[in-house]
Amino acid sequence: MVPPVRRRRDDGSRPVDDAPAWILAGRAFVRGQLQPVEIAIDEAGRIQSIGKVRAGAPRHDVGDAVILPAATDLHVHFREPGGHATVENFASGSVEAALGGVTLVGEMPNTSPPVTDRERLEAKAALVPGRSAVDVLLYGSPVLPRAREGLSRSAGAFKLYLSPTTGIEEPPAASAVPELLEALAPLGLPVSVHAEDPRAFPTLPPPEDARDWDAARPARAESAALDLLLPRPPALRLHVAHATTASTARRLRDAGLSFEATPHHLLLSTASARSDPRSKVNPPLRSEEERAALYAAFCRGEVPCLASDHAPHPPESKTTDFARAPSGMPGVETMVPLLLARVRSGDLPLSVLVAAACDRPARWFGQPLGRIAPGHRANLLVVDFQRRTRIEARHLHAPCGFTAFEGWEAIFPREHYRDGRAIVEDGEFVGARNGIVVRPEFARGSSPAVPMPE
Ligand SMILES: [Zn+2]
Repeated sequence: MVPPVRRRRDDGSRPVDDAPAWILAGRAFVRGQLQPVEIAIDEAGRIQSIGKVRAGAPRHDVGDAVILPAATDLHVHFREPGGHATVENFASGSVEAALGGVTLVGEMPNTSPPVTDRERLEAKAALVPGRSAVDVLLYGSPVLPRAREGLSRSAGAFKLYLSPTTGIEEPPAASAVPELLEALAPLGLPVSVHAEDPRAFPTLPPPEDARDWDAARPARAESAALDLLLPRPPALRLHVAHATTASTARRLRDAGLSFEATPHHLLLSTASARSDPRSKVNPPLRSEEERAALYAAFCRGEVPCLASDHAPHPPESKTTDFARAPSGMPGVETMVPLLLARVRSGDLPLSVLVAAACDRPARWFGQPLGRIAPGHRANLLVVDFQRRTRIEARHLHAPCGFTAFEGWEAIFPREHYRDGRAIVEDGEFVGARNGIVVRPEFARGSSPAVPMPE
């Protein structure tokens, strides 16, 4: 797969004394804090320099707003191929991402058919050009031993499911997991794991509410899965998806593993969800006590990554009874806005949010994003902390038409720049559909579309 070529200078050089294309001025999150700067952006859409700019390029001053790096969401399901157009696709999901301040999404392989070989990966990659408003990294599913090697040359990461989920009915046996991790290590790609061990799922009557669902897929299934994953081969770039408890976070931190928490596990609990099928999700929401402990750990900076696990379903399937509703909820548009509101309310340090939503996910994907630094792509947000709104599904852009965060306070980015060009202005999508498929710069056979700065 050859990603579309990004526009750049003929010789690929970026002379430092070159005049910038334009200048973004204001208080920006640079080197760990907000400070007044001028960000010079070059023709190729890279950050050229930060500081006082002498040249007379066009200048946009953001006033009382602040400039942040745009976010990377490690975990979305845009449901293509094989989904329902009324639920989600690259065209719709990528606009939600753009409006939510997310400039790169990691798209999961449990589509229909699942992405288990190179041909399927490349067929899926062909759906991106001309349709996606943001960049996309595609996960492959490494369940077919003979297809792994080829898949590793096209995919951007692997996703391993240890329990059955939408589109993945037969996860590997627990006894096969250590060998599988050994086989993945030399392939060089990051590996994200859905860490629930189904052997720890009790047999219970059909769930009537979120508390029943928590009992059916309890937190001990998560810790049992960690027993399978730790210790892992040292060379493997392993990441655990959607950690749901503070004790999982502590174990993963102690082991030095990358992991993510979702806005729903940080903000919603079985107490708030009650019997609302919109809040049914895998792994389940936990008790209010567990949620509060995970959120406190997140606010202390002890959870490296934030990810949405954006997983929409047809609205009619999420308004019937709890037992029959599929698991998953949309979230790519509301992830950053919900947590920006927590920054404003004072419980979450801005530095923690930027690290978890922008910097660390971009590092894990091997992309020159997530920091306001010379040589990085000028994928930037302008956030006005005075522009508070309440989330209403009818004002969101997900075709599935529901959210589990109805009525929650949020701060949506006012502006979003991708490669120095506006894709969101005044909270409206104004961009082009020129998102590309990216792979980590450290992946084998990768000729990065956008090389990392030195
Ligand atoms: Zn997921």
